[in-house]
Amino acid sequence: MSPQDSRLMPEEAWFTEVFDRHGSAFSLKVREKLLDVQSPYQHLEVYATETFGNLMVLDGCVMLTDRDNFLYHEMIAHPALFTHEAPKRVVIIGGGDCGTLKEVLRHPGVEHVTQIDIDEEVTKAAERFFPALVEANDDPRAELLFADGVKWVDEADDGSIDVLIIDSTDPVGPAEGLFKTDFLKRCHRILAPGGVMVQQSESPLYHSATIIRELRRDMREAGFDSVATLPFPQPVYPSGWWSVTLAGKACDVNQFREEAASNHAMPLSYYTVDAHRGALTLPPFMQKALD
Ligand code: SAM
Repeated sequence: MSPQDSRLMPEEAWFTEVFDRHGSAFSLKVREKLLDVQSPYQHLEVYATETFGNLMVLDGCVMLTDRDNFLYHEMIAHPALFTHEAPKRVVIIGGGDCGTLKEVLRHPGVEHVTQIDIDEEVTKAAERFFPALVEANDDPRAELLFADGVKWVDEADDGSIDVLIIDSTDPVGPAEGLFKTDFLKRCHRILAPGGVMVQQSESPLYHSATIIRELRRDMREAGFDSVATLPFPQPVYPSGWWSVTLAGKACDVNQFREEAASNHAMPLSYYTVDAHRGALTLPPFMQKALD
């Protein structure tokens, strides 16, 4: 997933992201390039594809498409929010496309959501090319900041947050610091007792024995009492399969508010109480790799 792994093959009008280390690749047939911006932090591209709607790419890596982003955004938001007993104060680090913010704001009990993305260009691109993702941005409970999430967490007050969502790029470039143990310790510090943190944690197939295993170990070392990794399908990411990892401060993230998750009135497309239960039951190969 390094930037140089990805390329556009203009003669065939395919966008291809090559996962060299894993001997695999993912391609989408594209109609045209809609945006090409070099921000101070990353190279941002948007394409119109033939069958997946618009596609956002950062440093050569696929971030999201119109067609399948609901899988990721619902699974990074709702399991964490239905795990916390009564989430009111939510923080999103990264998430500049605003898809996670939209899912969080569906929860009526949430009183305030602060989103901190390092790169305003990502949000500007979402406003132009992914209008469905930004439709909740005017909600008075939402606050959008553009700053380094690592620094923001450093400066936040102890115990001031109920749910902390790390919706970042892969652990290279500006997001590298978001995967370090020191950062996780600070996340633990700013969560109130009963607080839940959730971080996107890469592919179950490719990264169970490496990134996911290390993240879970680092979360425990940072002081979290429980961890749970939830896999879910994500066609446009390496291996077509992705995961989020939850960590609980004085709470068990393997339990959630099942009644609330069954009875909500949110118009969701993937998350259900059964999808949540199912995701908490890891397949044997993952259990073996994570133990
Ligand atoms: N769903 C995506 C994925 O897993 O590939 C992630 C989506 S979101 C676009 C990732 C965001 O993380 C980007 O907008 C990027 O600017 C932001 N980001 C990376 N490093 C960051 C940091 N240190 N602080 C705040 N935001 C950061």
